[in-house]
Amino acid sequence: MSQILVIGSANADHVMNFEYLPVPGQTLMSRAYRLEHGGKGANQAVACARLCQGDAEVAFICHLGQDSVGNDMRTSWLKDSIKAEGITQVANMNTGTALIFVGDNGENSIGIAAGANAHLTPSELEKHYALFANAQFLLIQLETPMETVQHALQTAKRLGITTVLNPAPATSQELDYLKWVDIITPNETEAEALTGIEVNNEEDAELAAQWLHQQGVATVVITLGSKGAFISSAGFTGLIPALTVQAIDTVAAGDTFNGALVVGLSEGMSIAAAVGFANAASAITVTREGAQRAIPYRHEVQR
Ligand code: ADP
Repeated sequence: MSQILVIGSANADHVMNFEYLPVPGQTLMSRAYRLEHGGKGANQAVACARLCQGDAEVAFICHLGQDSVGNDMRTSWLKDSIKAEGITQVANMNTGTALIFVGDNGENSIGIAAGANAHLTPSELEKHYALFANAQFLLIQLETPMETVQHALQTAKRLGITTVLNPAPATSQELDYLKWVDIITPNETEAEALTGIEVNNEEDAELAAQWLHQQGVATVVITLGSKGAFISSAGFTGLIPALTVQAIDTVAAGDTFNGALVVGLSEGMSIAAAVGFANAASAITVTREGAQRAIPYRHEVQR
């Protein structure tokens, strides 16, 4: 049975829309408010669970608070058939929270309280060793503590698990952990933060990919928004174009892409076919509002 292990963050996104963003000292009434289930780790776990089929299983190691939004997230993930074992609700902590202000001109301003996500330490990871032992793929991002990310990658590598790092949010800090990464999936901004090479087109992406190969990463997939994704790997190098759709909200596009990519690879697709599948899944996400609720199911992608 194929098993995918996702490790990462979960955030309750409180989104408010304003005509313009409040300035320091100002109180403004918002036009609209909504609470979204988000966080890169959780979005990617949900994408894997909704997109996989047959007897594939998805486990998600994350820490939530013992609060109502934490309860709601857990219930919703179990409905999507994510395994319960990795999900921990920590006493006396809040679920990770993001306060997101969006102006009518598209500008935003975001504050994040890591809450229980910060409690996901290397020693907490060790408690879930059984989930590592059964996994063929690890999918991880950079929204949990750095030492946890490093520990997860190193453990997975030792066990022969294929490691996939979505290096988001962007960082240019210490990159020693790249030696444990088999597949890396930055967007344009993240590729530039990692490599120092500005990425605007296929040629730039190829240069950035070369830099990442030199750090020991065998397969580089750089997502290029509505242009699609550039692959640099032993088997295939080139651009796989995105689908043409009417995008209304690109939140969770990258997360859907990452989940779909890993599902495709876990089913034995070639890297080019898996990126094509990931482009199709994330094209659906951008046509819908919201974070986890925008992520499609397998039958929708197939249609
Ligand atoms: P992120 O959301 O991490 O910034 P991107 O913007 O590169 O990542 O988007 C990830 C993937 O989502 C792209 O590679 C593409 O497949 C898909 N995508 C994003 N924006 C669009 C769009 N406007 N139309 C079609 N597909 C899109």
